[in-house]
Amino acid sequence: MPNLFIATGDTHKIQEIRAVLGPRFVCLCQNDANAQLTVNETGRTFGENALLKAVTWAAYLGIDLCDLGVEWVLADDSGLEVDALGGAPGVHSARFAALDSGLSGNSSDSENSAKLLRLLAAVPAAKRTARFRCVLALTRICPGATLDELATNTRTFDGTCEGRLQFQPIGDQGFGYDPLFVPTGHETSFATLGEIVKNDVSHRGSALKKLSAWFALATPASALLPPA
Ligand code: IMP
Repeated sequence: MPNLFIATGDTHKIQEIRAVLGPRFVCLCQNDANAQLTVNETGRTFGENALLKAVTWAAYLGIDLCDLGVEWVLADDSGLEVDALGGAPGVHSARFAALDSGLSGNSSDSENSAKLLRLLAAVPAAKRTARFRCVLALTRICPGATLDELATNTRTFDGTCEGRLQFQPIGDQGFGYDPLFVPTGHETSFATLGEIVKNDVSHRGSALKKLSAWFALATPASALLPPA
């Protein structure tokens, strides 16, 4: 049974990852390990940031927490791309509002959504197209491996969910921009549709299904670095 460490402190992401992967995977997270690590997300793309998080955590777990019993690190980098804003907020989705204030750290979901609605105030319904993107990076923990070795032995899985943005938030489920985002094929927001529908059609759900299929079909042990 694949044993994964989910390299995020975001409880919503953890919940969605656990729900989609299901009981075929053992998924530990920072709370299980009593581990804290801050990774500076300096990448220009979701893929670069996911790789950065996975490799940094794999190096840390391989040295400081090798008794945890996890074999793989799974990192998620994701965000919203809005066509009318030239693809923003993109990799800055978590700290969209803070970009203006210059404050470090992420902004609250309500601050980010308020900024988005403000910027889109004059944009008509037909032009409010957007998509969520997610890149998952999967690294095999290998004590002693360098960061470069871990990076070249990391596999990524991506997912996209097309949709449009509403004029006001609707629904109280999910997180982030969920109350504003209506996935294509539906009439209301992710925050109203709920977890089962969201996981079925979301960017994260589709990337996770690719990862799950890879574990089912490939021989991961030979495809990435061997265990220590
Ligand atoms: P990350 O933790 O750097 O990957 O930032 C992800 C940010 O993108 C979150 O804080 C949300 O603002 C946004 N985001 C990513 N995935 C979702 C989602 O499934 N629903 C709503 N917002 C999301």
